[in-house]
Amino acid sequence: MLNIVIFGAPGSGKGTQSELIIKEYQLDHISTGDVLRAEMKNETELGKVAKEYIEKGQLVPDELIVNMLAKVLDSKENSKGVIFDGFPRTIPQAKALKVMLNERGQDVTIMLDLQVDEAELINRLLERGKISGRSDDNLETIKSRLEVYHNQTAPLVDFYIAEGKHVAIQGMGSVEEIFGRIKNAVDAVK
Ligand code: AMP
Repeated sequence: MLNIVIFGAPGSGKGTQSELIIKEYQLDHISTGDVLRAEMKNETELGKVAKEYIEKGQLVPDELIVNMLAKVLDSKENSKGVIFDGFPRTIPQAKALKVMLNERGQDVTIMLDLQVDEAELINRLLERGKISGRSDDNLETIKSRLEVYHNQTAPLVDFYIAEGKHVAIQGMGSVEEIFGRIKNAVDAVK
């Protein structure tokens, strides 16, 4: 089992790199952001609640996310491993993930921390906003998402350092260059 947490600020390239990792290592992909956007599109109860937070650039409450994640994880039982994209985003989520994986006789194999300069993050997100149609890719929401990242999500770096799973990945450069760095890191632990 190869369980990868792909980590980084909004705009750090988690989604783009996840797609390449999945192809290379035949993993399943769980993006909590994608699951939430599907719930919003289908106007489910969860989708309606999530929308309020997403449009303000805030995090959806841990309990909702952890319950949602548990269900998705159960649907991926026969996989070679999972790439977790956009999850965990808080310490309670990281602890819940550890419990869920341990219950299944597994653990996180590696946490890839994509490191990108703040100015570049804002540029990328504004560019993406022109084509993504995402209601949260506008300057005001981007700023709150970055603040939330620094306050609530960045502390996970220390959590995964303590777990011995953290690997810093230089996230500036071409998609291929960055993927090369990721492959080196993953091949060293798989
Ligand atoms: P993303 O597509 O990962 O950038 O997520 C978009 C938005 O969905 C975030 O700004 C949050 O509002 C919400 N979201 C996604 N994943 C999580 C999570 N693990 N915990 C809380 N909120 C989340």
